[in-house]
Amino acid sequence: MAGSSAKKKGPVEKIAMQCTECKRRNYTTEKNRRNTPEKFEMNKYCPFDRKHTLHRETKIK
Ligand SMILES: [Zn+2]
Repeated sequence: MAGSSAKKKGPVEKIAMQCTECKRRNYTTEKNRRNTPEKFEMNKYCPFDRKHTLHRETKIK
């Protein structure tokens, strides 16, 4: 249908996982936007806080 202006390789998008405590981006991963339209949130080890903290998805540019 009309409306798709940009061609992409697929719905997979690279994202960074940002620590919610120190705001550093500690991890990068990929997600499929078709399967996961909501934002990722997960507990991961932050080497700066030296403990597990909640990490949230942010965009990579
Ligand atoms: Zn942290």
